[in-house]
Amino acid sequence: MTAGVPRPLAPDHPRAIEVADRTWWVGCVTPDGLDHRHAYLVEQGDQSVLINPGPRACFPAVREKIEQIVPLAQVRWFLCPHQDPDTASAMICIDAANTRADAAIIADTEASECLRHYGLAMPVHLPAARDWRLLLQDRALSLIALPYAPRAGALCAFDKQTGVLFSGDLFSSLDSSELLFAREAVHLGGLVPYHQRAMPSGIALDNALRGVEYLPIRLIATKRGPLIPQSLVGDAIARLRNLKCGIHLLGDREPDVQRAWDLADIMHRITDTMLLQRDFGDIARQLLTLIQPILPAAHIDYYALLDDGSILTLHPEHNFAGVVDGQTPYMCDFIGKSRREWLDIHATDRRFRAHLLHSERFCVQPNTANGAADGGSVVTLPLWARGSDRIEALAVIRLPPAVRITDLAAQLIERIAEPLHVALEREVSYRRLDIARDRAYRRSIRDPLTGLFTRFYMEDVLGRQCALHERDAAATLSICLLDIDYFKRVNDTHGHLAGDRVLTTLAALLEENCRDTDIPVRYGGEEILVGAVGQDIAGAAQLAERLLALIAAAAVPIEDGGEPTLSVTVSIGVAEHRQGETLESVIRRADECLYRAKDLGRNRVELEPLTLPSKSPTGSWAQRNEIG
Ligand code: GH3
Ligand code: MG
Ligand code: MG
Repeated sequence: MTAGVPRPLAPDHPRAIEVADRTWWVGCVTPDGLDHRHAYLVEQGDQSVLINPGPRACFPAVREKIEQIVPLAQVRWFLCPHQDPDTASAMICIDAANTRADAAIIADTEASECLRHYGLAMPVHLPAARDWRLLLQDRALSLIALPYAPRAGALCAFDKQTGVLFSGDLFSSLDSSELLFAREAVHLGGLVPYHQRAMPSGIALDNALRGVEYLPIRLIATKRGPLIPQSLVGDAIARLRNLKCGIHLLGDREPDVQRAWDLADIMHRITDTMLLQRDFGDIARQLLTLIQPILPAAHIDYYALLDDGSILTLHPEHNFAGVVDGQTPYMCDFIGKSRREWLDIHATDRRFRAHLLHSERFCVQPNTANGAADGGSVVTLPLWARGSDRIEALAVIRLPPAVRITDLAAQLIERIAEPLHVALEREVSYRRLDIARDRAYRRSIRDPLTGLFTRFYMEDVLGRQCALHERDAAATLSICLLDIDYFKRVNDTHGHLAGDRVLTTLAALLEENCRDTDIPVRYGGEEILVGAVGQDIAGAAQLAERLLALIAAAAVPIEDGGEPTLSVTVSIGVAEHRQGETLESVIRRADECLYRAKDLGRNRVELEPLTLPSKSPTGSWAQRNEIG
């Protein structure tokens, strides 16, 4: 060691070391010198906490370091991440030496049951009963349960104030490094072998990582192996992510176990994908990637039955946007069929001669999508609802040339059927909602008798146009308000149904003769409003005159079959929106003009007198308005 360079701290250091504010390392190397055991003291006066009490054989050395900081009697809490003797057997010595009535062990359910067998007098507090917190003098430790397996688990603690994660087994290392702190990535080499041995499975380890990785960690205080500073936390997590460990490692020796695990792993990831993704496209893309190691499919198309009997197609080429165009492959004939029919069709229908049934769950045929067989194959996988006897959807999986369906691939195909069905079912119900929403919207904007827009829609669209006009003088808007002349007589003479027929005929005439920008609205019983967007009074007056003439000239049928007909006339009031004015106000002015048209004999257009255009177009309305 060069003079002047301080020796790095080693795990056999004789003194307690403050690793964070009032947080002391009080660990030691085992008496046989084989590995080191970290214990930590969170110094909090007479509420101090000892974390990882450790093995009984280490306790004298640990106690010595504790007492360099506080007398043992000041320690009130003993946090045992789990129950193994290397973590908790020191509790036998601590319990014997304990003099305080309020001292207690903190351990989770499984550990607390095992700790009973040490015959301790000290009570065990469950973290749940303490609301997952240990309240101390100047801080609170969050208690975090990490289920490594369905029952056994481990308890971590996080100190938000210092950013120290007391991680128990998680992030521990197998080798006995000479260093107390990892300083560079190479010092993390012992992480992988330790977790491969200590963790029951890769899935359990991933769950455990998920339980802590969101924390703002500044130091990982491990149970053994080097402590991990903030700069190496990301590296440590990356090494452990997706690591095969515990029973997963058995597969290295047993190909069958390996295959079963690979399959279980893919299914697990598919389930995760379905939980995390809402969009069917995201699920489908992710699924295709996940199955590649076992089933290197080129792409998968999906077909699902909709409520109206049509078939929804979800193709990767369309980015799974979904189309209902009737262009479906013949395999879609299976949709809606029962299990029995699915088998019968294979036996009897000529089109399925080349299809080879696999365990009655799916079928395979040579790919002839572009006319000739290309050596590839197509898997048709029917998707049944759980417990249902009806094929509700299909996945059509295209395999490139030379890809054989192994036993494992066949198992995978069978097993993805259920999650795929759930994903498609979810997609169909989202679409059902969309359709219902569309329908409700259409109902709210279109009048059921005439098909003209409703007042609700008018207020929305023309209200926005008024607001636009406020900011932009060129964004004009005029209102033409039509009322059928002597309409009561039509009803009285020919009946209400004939009256309805007149209304629908006039509505159709208006729709045909208005521009796309005009908004024809059923304003009242037999009053129709046309919002002439972008028109000033002159433009709107021309429109009104044109409509007046068209209606007067039309032969309006009053019964099915087109005969007999009658002619009707309308009166129209026209007003132009003024900047700053409400929609209601301009309609009121148009209505006043309409009244005047009625008073002046009907079948005519009346304009607002004050807003006469400077250039007077031809037509009678110009002269009529001169009187105003
Ligand atoms: P005016 O020339 O003064 O407008 O005379 P009018 O007879 O048309 O009088 P008014 O506008 O007051 O009459 C409206 C009539 O329209 C009364 C009502 O029975 C009829 N009406 C309103 N809505 C409907 C409908 O949906 N169908 C039918 N058939 N008639 C309707
Ligand atoms: Mg009326
Ligand atoms: Mg009328």
